[in-house]
Amino acid sequence: MNYEQLLNAFGDGTENLGADEGDIRQLPTHILKDDPLKGPSALPEDARQCLICLEDFAKGERRSILPCLHGFHTNCSTKWLRTNGSCPICKHRISQST
Ligand SMILES: [Zn+2]
Ligand SMILES: [Zn+2]
Repeated sequence: MNYEQLLNAFGDGTENLGADEGDIRQLPTHILKDDPLKGPSALPEDARQCLICLEDFAKGERRSILPCLHGFHTNCSTKWLRTNGSCPICKHRISQST
């Protein structure tokens, strides 16, 4: 069974709120480099923290950018979007289909 069939069979209590796995996987990601121009310190000051886990981004971590341009750890945004398909900051939905 794939993820969708599992959800249909058992439900997860969050009917239709989560984004599609495919949409989540299509989000652009980048790894924060150990480089002043491409590392965490290159991010705008108000974007240096992941507002899902409330940790500052660190070198070597993977960051996903949502269509609204808000960025989160890839692990955090994937978990979040599976149950709640919109940006936790601005509520912009990541799926165009809905
Ligand atoms: Zn995070
Ligand atoms: Zn947003």
